[in-house]
Amino acid sequence: MSQKNTLLLIEDDLSIRKFVIAGVSEEFRVVEAETAEAGIRLTAVENPVVILLDLGLPDLDGLDVVKRIREWSEIPIIVLSARGREEDKVTALDIGANDYVTKPFSLPELRARIRASIRISLKAPPGGVFESGSLKVDFTSREVFIEKEPVALTVNEYKLLLALIQSAGRVLTHQQLLKTVWGEAFQNQSHYVRVLMVQLRKKLKEESRKEKLIYTEVGVGYRLRA
Ligand code: CA
Repeated sequence: MSQKNTLLLIEDDLSIRKFVIAGVSEEFRVVEAETAEAGIRLTAVENPVVILLDLGLPDLDGLDVVKRIREWSEIPIIVLSARGREEDKVTALDIGANDYVTKPFSLPELRARIRASIRISLKAPPGGVFESGSLKVDFTSREVFIEKEPVALTVNEYKLLLALIQSAGRVLTHQQLLKTVWGEAFQNQSHYVRVLMVQLRKKLKEESRKEKLIYTEVGVGYRLRA
């Protein structure tokens, strides 16, 4: 019996399926679905550790697939989206997809997204210490260090950083960050996030460093380097 974990690939385009399978089959047992209905059914019976989901499927919209799966499962979903459909990507993330790659994507990029999504879904609750490059955060004492120097963050700056750390390696939308830092009532205030992000980046000395910690995903949100 194979020891590999299962990856479910829901995609109607054969050439993309072949491309993805060539890149991930060493690590995963790949189950293929050409339609949304088959994908939803196989999610239930194959117990995949991750789902790659095309948004343009012949029977149902991929966004509906995300909604249907999220009714009963927290399996990480990575959306394979067409270029220039920023709104679809944002909607997919807001309704529960974990990440996306934009076609045409590279296999190393796809594998990095898969690793990040699986790591997050298996991650222990926060506690202890997070380190990435020159950033160090001690969750117990709530201390933040950049290049070994302590950084004084406001409550909201710390909340924003914490949200990014909890999803390190994957993108968070403006909506998700608004909800986490300010709460449901502030859904339309995405400039709050931008302003707070400017402050946080300044305190983390992002400008003066070559290796960035926080990446902007244009039109979508932000991603912390894993
Ligand atoms: Ca398609």
